[in-house]
Amino acid sequence: MALALAITPVPNNVVYNNGSVKLAKTPTLSIESAGASDSLRLAGYASEHGFSVTGRKKSSVRLKIVAGSTPEEGYVLKIGGKGVEITATDGAGLFYGLQALMDLRENADGKAIPSMTITDSPRLPYRGMMLDLSRHYRSKEFVMRQIRAMERLNLNRLHLHLTDAAGWRIESDKYPRLNSLAAFRPDSTWKAWNEGGNQYGGAYGGVLSKQDLKDIVEYAADRYITVIPEVEMPSHSEEVLAAYPMLSCNKKGVGNSNFCAGSEASFEFIRDILDEVMEIFPSTQIHIGGDEAPKAQWMECDACQARMAEHDLQSPEHLQSWFIRRVEEYLASHGRKAIVWDDALEGDGPSADATIMSWKGTEPSSVSYPVIMSPGRYCYLDSYQDAPSSQPEAIGGYTPLDAVYGYEPDSLAVGLQGNLWCEYIPSDSHAEYMLYPRMFAVAETAWSQPDRKNPEDFRKRVMAEASRMRNEGYTVFDISSEIGNRPEAKSSVDHLARGKKVTYLQPYWKNYPADGEGSLTDGVRGGWNYSDRLWQGFAQSSPERVDVLIDLEEQKQLSEIYATFMQICQPDVWMPEHVEIYAGDDPDNLTLLNRIDLERKPDTEVSFRNFGWTGSVSARYVRYRATAPSGGVLFTDEIIVK
Ligand SMILES: [Zn+2]
Repeated sequence: MALALAITPVPNNVVYNNGSVKLAKTPTLSIESAGASDSLRLAGYASEHGFSVTGRKKSSVRLKIVAGSTPEEGYVLKIGGKGVEITATDGAGLFYGLQALMDLRENADGKAIPSMTITDSPRLPYRGMMLDLSRHYRSKEFVMRQIRAMERLNLNRLHLHLTDAAGWRIESDKYPRLNSLAAFRPDSTWKAWNEGGNQYGGAYGGVLSKQDLKDIVEYAADRYITVIPEVEMPSHSEEVLAAYPMLSCNKKGVGNSNFCAGSEASFEFIRDILDEVMEIFPSTQIHIGGDEAPKAQWMECDACQARMAEHDLQSPEHLQSWFIRRVEEYLASHGRKAIVWDDALEGDGPSADATIMSWKGTEPSSVSYPVIMSPGRYCYLDSYQDAPSSQPEAIGGYTPLDAVYGYEPDSLAVGLQGNLWCEYIPSDSHAEYMLYPRMFAVAETAWSQPDRKNPEDFRKRVMAEASRMRNEGYTVFDISSEIGNRPEAKSSVDHLARGKKVTYLQPYWKNYPADGEGSLTDGVRGGWNYSDRLWQGFAQSSPERVDVLIDLEEQKQLSEIYATFMQICQPDVWMPEHVEIYAGDDPDNLTLLNRIDLERKPDTEVSFRNFGWTGSVSARYVRYRATAPSGGVLFTDEIIVK
């Protein structure tokens, strides 16, 4: 099926002209006015993709640098008359013009391409994809495959999460125990590794050699993609501390996640590692983490406390910013700048040169720094992309293609990035399955102007691009078989308690209030994800969780009462242990209609289950109680009375 315009991300301006151009099977291609390195890159790429590169100006595809002719990375692609002409200000622009031509050519399938002029340039300068290589080791070849997928989508930054508790992935000359110990663990799965007490050493894992990493950098650069390494600090560093315990506050390593901020040894280690990293990665930006650092270790450490006193730092959050700024100074002395997760805004924040990677909210977490948006809600591609029961295990959540596509970054954002965290993604094919097609949506939002986005047209292009990728051996989720959101969430439900007052005898959890006090009787059901603001959470420390009284305002004939609960064991979301359902006319003296006991069944499935009563009774009040095991949270979306 030929598409009207088979280019993803969709170009920003297309004007059709009369006529068409038929390209030869191996069209001649020339490159004019480009510098040596751009010429070499583009010629190499074009030859690999079925063009015959010549020096002749009469070639059928002519690439030409014309300074100032387009914005950075933009291009003008003219198809018509004597052939094809691509002009751009820079090599990247020519590269993206060539990508657009290749899409059109493939869609034409040997036939002529309609004459047209495309004028295109990116919405955002930073268009990124993140691969977490720590939670599961991946090979150089795997990373290169994903680079080939990125190039088609005009993505230009590959962020590699190379260090974390689950494994160190950068070969180090100076610290060999990183390669031999911190890069390995005994257990392959995340769950087994956690249950086994997070040991290091063993058979599972590996480092990418310096040569592997340099090969990746060069392979990406040939496709106008910059590789940004991430070295985690001050926390998420358990694997380093296991190998070099003296870098932790209590010098024991195990049980610590932070570098000791009071010890000079920490900074010596970080400088040495950054030297090795900067030698491999020419990127101006280096990601230095900065997320989720627990502060207790520092508060209990004499050296850290002395550091705080020495620099008059009022809180451990200020110690964290002092730490990050000190590392930034070192980067700056080598002409580099830091990217940090938005957690690093705590305390005094990073230096003014830093860029923030914003994952916590959907709006930029700061107006004082350049911000790359990567909101967990829309850009974390490790959550379910379809009905959980139809999918391989994931971390939870529900982020279908349409949700990723629907996200619009604030106009202040300088970038957008899709992140693939891999705790629950052991295999390469599973990783690709989670990435595609959702990365297409990230790419289109990052490149195309908002008014060019169109969900229906996008889905058609996704189908075509996905089938092309499958032919090349990629594993891609098939949206043609997508189930979509939980059926109950698609329309509202009418019942006797709808709109009626609910008295909370136990409070709901303020973190997950849904729509507050009216939520359980508003007729609105939740979807696959408890954080969709339709599920109400219950999290008291006593076993009592849900205990609500509903006033139907007058005596009604009742035949059914039920509520649905959700279970996702990993974040401690459990089915109730006991449910009791009462009804009657005196709220202080109700009749027990049903009691349900459920044995706790830890499993990896996300499941949904109704707890209810059916029968016949006449009553004005309904009371619904549910208890849960210690530490477990209950989520329900509606108490339905019929
Ligand atoms: Zn310390």
